[in-house]
Amino acid sequence: MAARTMHSKVVVIGSGPAAHTAAIYLARAQLEPVLYEGMMANGVAAGGQLTTTTDVENFPGFPTGVNGSKLMDAMREQSVKAGTKIVTDTVVNLDLSRRPFQFGLEYAPGEVHTADAVILATGASAKRLGLPGEDVYWQQGISACAVCDGAVPIFRDKPLFVIGGGDSAAEEALFLTKYGQHVTVLVRKNELRASSVMKSRLEDHKKVTVRRLAQGVEVKGDVDELVKFYRAKYGHEAVGGENGIDVKILTPEDKEKWVKEDQKKYQRRKMTHLVVEFTTTTEKGEIIETKQETVEANGLFYAIGHNPATELVRGQLEVDTEGYVITQPGTPFTSIQGVFACGDVQDKRYRQAITSAGTGCMAAMDAEKYIADLEVEEAARKKATAANGSASTNGTASTNGKI
Ligand code: FAD
Ligand code: NAP
Repeated sequence: MAARTMHSKVVVIGSGPAAHTAAIYLARAQLEPVLYEGMMANGVAAGGQLTTTTDVENFPGFPTGVNGSKLMDAMREQSVKAGTKIVTDTVVNLDLSRRPFQFGLEYAPGEVHTADAVILATGASAKRLGLPGEDVYWQQGISACAVCDGAVPIFRDKPLFVIGGGDSAAEEALFLTKYGQHVTVLVRKNELRASSVMKSRLEDHKKVTVRRLAQGVEVKGDVDELVKFYRAKYGHEAVGGENGIDVKILTPEDKEKWVKEDQKKYQRRKMTHLVVEFTTTTEKGEIIETKQETVEANGLFYAIGHNPATELVRGQLEVDTEGYVITQPGTPFTSIQGVFACGDVQDKRYRQAITSAGTGCMAAMDAEKYIADLEVEEAARKKATAANGSASTNGTASTNGKI
């Protein structure tokens, strides 16, 4: 049986602010865009990174802040209202070597999808360390975006930590000095990777301490108290489960009791301590001593880099050493005509919802122009073919006439 095919003039791959902004502009330009929103693509729900946060306080238009998921629901609704068709599936292969571009989906492997233009808005995800306690306190003290989360009350006048030694770590730490009581930057090597200007700003700041040869080892907080409480109350072992609330209850009766009586008390869990490993070395770098210390910490910010979602285009589009799509400065143009990139997948510097939306708009406007040019070329080609066809018919006829 022939594979079902679906052709679109322009498709958007992704579902964050960049993707939906692009779709809204394309739909309003009557290009009937199709947006592939992903189904837990890269482990993130459709809607992208903002679905993993609570309040977004720096997106214009929401003076009292807006819940990240609600903001993305609203963007999706606006895309649909403007005329975007949304496909809830993940694009798993994309062939940019043929025209139209061709791609396939994870949950509809029998289908072939094609498009004249592709907007890549697949985003990025912050690298994590996978420390014990990380899942429990993610967004309950741990974050990968100080600019996004730093101003929330749980960090005010509290000891905060940043892990990383690059420019992002320096920027995050300096930003956090506005809110935290003190900021400690943990750098795993003896050297920071940050530029010298950022390094000096960091080292000269009175609210910052840089600890070299230091690594985070474990995150602790009030779930530990919860586990202790559970043990005391029910008299047997309990293990902090996913989210720290759903402790693994050993009997169904206990679970019943737990949910009714105790769970509410621990809804507002947060991190309180960080276990840090400090290493001392000789000048030549030989390890003299490694010791662990549990320090008070109400916030932990990872600045160890991001993973751009570019697996689909590796080996096809030009990407930089960290895998970000390279776009021509100030534009969404990639190394292949007809393929545009926007949002975090091509931005390792700003990584904000508003900048993603802005570049989504740019991608749509350039895609629209690209398609208009294609249509003009196609019309000219058809005209030329028709003219050649009639010339050759005439020619044949006249030749025939001569013979
Ligand atoms: P993303 O939001 O990264 O979304 C891309 C999505 O596309 C993916 O998540 C996935 O669902 C989909 N996708 C990926 N691959 C495929 C595929 N192959 N097929 C189909 N779909 C696919 N920014 C702010 O401005 N303010 C904030 O307060 C703020 N808070 C944040 C809090 C957290 C916890 C995080 C992680 C980020 C925060 N940010 C904030 C940053 C902001 O979320 C990002 O800059 C923005 O979401 C990037 O948008 P994007 O459109 O590039 O893609
Ligand atoms: P980066 O330069 O790659 O730095 C990542 C840092 O995280 C490094 O110090 C690295 O340590 C550390 N790290 C990585 N994995 C770790 C782990 N498992 N445990 C502990 N530490 C770990 O990334 P970035 O700071 O996000 O910067 C990315 C790019 O954007 C850079 O080109 C940067 O210059 C640019 N940028 C510029 C600005 C600016 O100009 N204002 C701001 C932000 C970013 P090692 O050094 O030991 O590998």
